[in-house]
Amino acid sequence: MGLLSQGSPLNWEETKKYADHIRKHGIIQFLNIYNKVKDRQRDVLKWGDEVEYMLIEMDEANEKVRIVLSGGEVLETLQEQGEKINPNHPTLWRPEYGSYMIEGTPGQPYGGTMSEFNTVEDNMDKRRREASAALKPNETLCTVTAFPRLGCPGFTKPEYRPTPVEAGVSRSLFFPDEAINTHPRFSTLTRNIRHRRGEKVVINVPIFRDQKTPTPFVENFPEDDGEGARAALPDHIYMDAMGFGMGNCCLQVTFQACSIAEARYLYDQLATFCPIVMALSAASPFYRGYVSDIDCRWGVISASVDDRTPEERGLKPLKNDKYRIFKSRYDSIDSYLSSCGEKYNDIDLTIDEDIYKQLLDGGIDKLLAQHIAHLFIRDPLSIFEEKLNLDDENESDHFENLQSTNWQTMRFKPPPPNSDIGWRVEFRPMEVQLTDFENSAYVVFVVLLTRVILSYKLDFLIPLSKVDENMKVAQKRNAVQEDMFYFRKDIFKGKGGEGVFPGLIPILNCYLENMEVDVDTRCTILNYLKLIKKRASGELMTMAKWMREFVSQHPQYQQDSVVTDKINYDLLRKCDRIATGQERCPELFGEPINRFK
Ligand code: GLU
Ligand code: MG
Repeated sequence: MGLLSQGSPLNWEETKKYADHIRKHGIIQFLNIYNKVKDRQRDVLKWGDEVEYMLIEMDEANEKVRIVLSGGEVLETLQEQGEKINPNHPTLWRPEYGSYMIEGTPGQPYGGTMSEFNTVEDNMDKRRREASAALKPNETLCTVTAFPRLGCPGFTKPEYRPTPVEAGVSRSLFFPDEAINTHPRFSTLTRNIRHRRGEKVVINVPIFRDQKTPTPFVENFPEDDGEGARAALPDHIYMDAMGFGMGNCCLQVTFQACSIAEARYLYDQLATFCPIVMALSAASPFYRGYVSDIDCRWGVISASVDDRTPEERGLKPLKNDKYRIFKSRYDSIDSYLSSCGEKYNDIDLTIDEDIYKQLLDGGIDKLLAQHIAHLFIRDPLSIFEEKLNLDDENESDHFENLQSTNWQTMRFKPPPPNSDIGWRVEFRPMEVQLTDFENSAYVVFVVLLTRVILSYKLDFLIPLSKVDENMKVAQKRNAVQEDMFYFRKDIFKGKGGEGVFPGLIPILNCYLENMEVDVDTRCTILNYLKLIKKRASGELMTMAKWMREFVSQHPQYQQDSVVTDKINYDLLRKCDRIATGQERCPELFGEPINRFK
């Protein structure tokens, strides 16, 4: 989840004082990078995936499942057995927000040959086995986007009570600080978001109204000092901590483009797919022990890191703050970057005018300058005292400070200083899937999409405001089947076609037919595309839908929107059996099951 520095973190009051310093040098660092590498061409296609995992414990005796707060130790073991002794180790492990989470990536990026699509699932399987081997016997690694009972009493192992005191980190009524990764970056981000905002973060997710759900659905929070009661909306599941959002798991893909122009083009094109692929990956229907009315984590994370003040949110007239800001730091992108995207930039863009001018004067074009000047309306959230003064020629931490705390659907990534890495874009909206087969399928689907977009020069752009509307729709319950998305029909950039959209899968298949692909790889890819196609048509369920059905059919379920400990245990046990190949699940993958080893 971004830059990790060591040292003494500053509190919000001190951080605020240095905000302009960080921004000023961040922009200088960006300009230095840009001027050095703006003309780089012919970087080869490389790409990689990131999978976020949760550690859970199956307590058979009590029929309870808990998240295990040992991510730190597990991570250390994995790094010591892997990258630290072998630079070519096939996996890499990184920390994530929750102290019960870890993130795994392939040891080296994948390259441009087709046969590499055939190695993705193998690598994910390696990761799962490697990390599972570092756990205790009754513990398991699980790729579920949102732990259904996150924030419920006794949901962690070891068990901790929440710490709703000012001196704590989240001050949450539900989410104990011990569930936050112990690296100071994570607690600092959490506390400084809360202090900048002036109150705890507020997350209200509509509850799924079942036959016996109380009307109105209103909860009482015994330890609340009043803030919770004021913030909680009726008929909503109320949450009050960054962990409820950033403690969720996702699946991301990063691509290296051959040049900055190609990176900008891909950034824009893929941005239009974010809501659609997110809806296809929907996997998070339950929050804090309740069945919700949404299927995706997006809005929850967005609210969980919303550090805007009431003035910035438009609740009070601007007096102490500089800008009215329309979105959280974690949200969909606000402007396209390529020249073909310019005419579709129809969202109000708040920018820092001074930075914008500084960038233009530094030789940056309008579109890129406004993108950066928009990211830089935010304040830095975590600063380490030892890292205030940097060598702007050779370091980029101040730029990365702002860049890596703008968590948008797409991220445009300049090369790090003095590296042979090229211009990259990151695709960030997907929810993590239960099995390596599904995760590989989604990753390969997105990578293939970039291949056809570039090879056939396709154009999927629609006005950005429509992408935002799609983003809202995509999170709704069963959006894939029940909702409509804006989508462009004439994707062949004026080269005929006359608005007849052949469908994505046929385009991908056509591309594959024209490529040299060995039979085995071909078969793998076809299976992946079949999964995506069947999820899109509704023939197969999304993870979210499948989880909903599991709960609604559970003998203990009372039609009251409550996911009890026992239901959660049975659900996650079943998930574990499916993910480890001990059980089939035709509703999710169809028949025959692929590649379970
Ligand atoms: N876990 C976050 C999500 O579900 C992403 C954190 C990151 O950027 O790595 O979107
Ligand atoms: Mg991550």
